Amino acid sequence: MSTAIVTHKDCILHETGINHPESKERLIAVNKSLKAFKSSKIKWFEGQEIESKYFYEVHTKSYFQDIKKKSPTDEPYRIDADTILSKDSLRAALVATGSVCKAVDLVLKGNFRNAFCPIRPPGHHAEPERAMGFCFFNNVAIAANYAKIKYGINKCAVIDFDVHHGNGTQKMFWDKPNMFYASTHQEGIFPGTGFKDETGIKNNIINVPLPAGTDSELFKKSYDDLIIPALNKFAPDIIFVSAGFDAHIDDPLADFRLTNKDFYWITKRLNDFAIKNCKGKLISCLEGGYNIKALTESCLEHVKGLSI
Ligand SMILES: [Zn+2]
Repeated sequence: MSTAIVTHKDCILHETGINHPESKERLIAVNKSLKAFKSSKIKWFEGQEIESKYFYEVHTKSYFQDIKKKSPTDEPYRIDADTILSKDSLRAALVATGSVCKAVDLVLKGNFRNAFCPIRPPGHHAEPERAMGFCFFNNVAIAANYAKIKYGINKCAVIDFDVHHGNGTQKMFWDKPNMFYASTHQEGIFPGTGFKDETGIKNNIINVPLPAGTDSELFKKSYDDLIIPALNKFAPDIIFVSAGFDAHIDDPLADFRLTNKDFYWITKRLNDFAIKNCKGKLISCLEGGYNIKALTESCLEHVKGLSI
């Protein structure tokens, strides 16, 4: 079987309030659209809450306790202007992270070549001790560490094509030479990190900041000329993808000009790399994407690119 899709019904319990771009409607629409895509190469699964011990490789115990303590029983707690903790946000975040770890199980036990996790809240801005940018727990970094601890995977790479820089993932991987992080993102926007000279302890971080207006050609060139060669040199055993779709031309939060087809292109490119170099092992999880039509169509292209 080619592709597992792992999600959890409780991801929609995370409430962000009226007019917040990171809404539950995003995930409802994505899952509806993916379920309508019938393919013999795809199978759906439900994740479960992550065991807390796997957290503490990337987040501190005190941070986890703090989120637990701040979890409201009634009115939402505002961590910052963007990041809202509602009464069921912790549950949603725990099953989101657990879904990515379930995807690791399915791929590393050899049942599936790759997996996509349509989940929320997203994760790549979450730092070891800080929730920010709609994110609480760093789903992709926790799952990469889970693959190391549980399955003895040596070298993990995370490729992040969300239009925002994954400051949290970078921070967690900075001093770990066997963890690789590469990102294309719009320069000068939130979270204000991801400069070219941020390279990690052993050139294990590759940042490709790109200008507003970046189109298909420049995006593809960044992968062909910079990220794929660096990934090749790193020689990962498994690839994780922070799959944000807010680099789409119709996204309201940024100014790139990618189309649905570009998300098929990058997916296929990474999938081909994984097939050639990592026995196909690739696990992707949803990050941003805030125009619901663009997001659902792009996610479908992403799954088509994975399940070939
Ligand atoms: Zn984003």
